[in-house]
Amino acid sequence: MKRSAPMKRTGFARKPGSPFSSLANRGTALRRTAMKKRAKKPTVAEGSKYLAACRGEPCFLRVSGVCRRNPNDETVVPCHENSLAAGKGMGLKSEHARTVPGCFWCHSWLDQGSAPREKKQVTFSQAFLEWAPVRARKMGLQEVMA
Ligand SMILES: [Zn+2]
Repeated sequence: MKRSAPMKRTGFARKPGSPFSSLANRGTALRRTAMKKRAKKPTVAEGSKYLAACRGEPCFLRVSGVCRRNPNDETVVPCHENSLAAGKGMGLKSEHARTVPGCFWCHSWLDQGSAPREKKQVTFSQAFLEWAPVRARKMGLQEVMA
């Protein structure tokens, strides 16, 4: 089969009266509020970039006796610090910013494990110190949150 016509970008046609019609002026509205928003409260999408950065990474928590240290571990997910002390009262972006890639086993250890909170905190902090510069490079940012 041969594709003769190139894919056309037609954009989204919104029917008037559809639940999305209120988004029709989104472009302008966003531009108008962009500055304010950026300074004030970062969006969930911005926070999600931190989560996305964890994709395809090895486990950074590497809890001894727990982690399988598989460099191609497919169970790796962003592990939030919010189950630990620092999470309380933080915004969504900060919570997402305080994540490290962790494998299933380390994640369980961190979230549900019986280790003392201090040990978890130290483990997370060490992993984060190691992960932050890697993530910054990956995201193309100069900012390193530590
Ligand atoms: Zn691990």
